[in-house]
Amino acid sequence: MPNNKELKNKYDAIIVGSGGTGLTAALQARELGLNVVILEKNGKIGGNTSRASSGMNASESLVQLDEGIIDNNRDFYEETLKGGGLLNDRAMLKYFVNHSAIAISWLMKYGVRLTDLTITGGMSVKRAHRPGSMEPVGFYLTSRLTNQVKKAGVDIFTGAKVTKLLQDKNGNVNGVEVETDKGVKTIKAKAVLLATGGFGASKEIIKKYRPDLVDYKTTNQPGATGDGIKLAKEIGAQLMQMNFI
Ligand SMILES: Cc1cc2nc3c(=O)[nH]c(=O)nc-3n(C[C@H](O)[C@H](O)[C@H](O)COP(=O)(O)OP(=O)(O)OC[C@H]3O[C@@H](n4cnc5c(N)ncnc54)[C@H](O)[C@@H]3O)c2cc1C
Repeated sequence: MPNNKELKNKYDAIIVGSGGTGLTAALQARELGLNVVILEKNGKIGGNTSRASSGMNASESLVQLDEGIIDNNRDFYEETLKGGGLLNDRAMLKYFVNHSAIAISWLMKYGVRLTDLTITGGMSVKRAHRPGSMEPVGFYLTSRLTNQVKKAGVDIFTGAKVTKLLQDKNGNVNGVEVETDKGVKTIKAKAVLLATGGFGASKEIIKKYRPDLVDYKTTNQPGATGDGIKLAKEIGAQLMQMNFI
């Protein structure tokens, strides 16, 4: 996708990665009135999100009610915990479950209508929300969210790989170094959000944490190389549960 804008020297927020996380974060940042840019290293937008094929799990949604499905957040929490071998970060899981229905409604506001339901592994009721049109959910999400992000005035650049996080003298992250076909550029921001996805396509990282899996083929997009993990580690972030892939 040709970038017809110039990268500015400064934004309120820089979002690294253009999958579901990056696109939705950018829209929320715009809702808060922030001046925001998305930097995506691939030539196209969407990351692994554009490959998702089943649906987006949520409990106590209006879509479920319309279908006559009586669900509750407690069951979704317990079943997901069980699926995670009881090793899930419980606070994060609770947050995820309790915000799942509102996430489906929030997407509706932007014309992303996940109005059909199916059941996925480990769930006792239909919780996987997918498009009523039966288009594959991932591409449906990323193509529509991309249109909304552009409409909202977010700057979005493909072929823009973030290679370093910048810090002020107190250690707070205050920008990034980004590589584009025009060279290396420094951009400053009040906040940087790493939305760079996982490392399913990185033989190097898999070899380190799960050597038994290194010869498996992956369904991940080639850019899933754990860049965000490396960038964060370089400035002292602690990693956890790296063997769960
Ligand atoms: C085949 C497949 C099917 C799936 N089906 C489902 C499903 O049905 N339901 C479900 O809930 N989940 C599903 N998943 C999992 C789901 O797709 C992911 O958990 C989710 O998409 C992750 O979103 P994300 O935004 O965090 O990362 P991604 O969507 O992967 O986006 C990360 C983006 O960051 C970019 N990036 C990385 N490093 C840099 C850098 N240094 N600089 C700039 N950009 C960078 C990447 O190129 C990528 O575009 C599936 C996954 C796969 C692979």
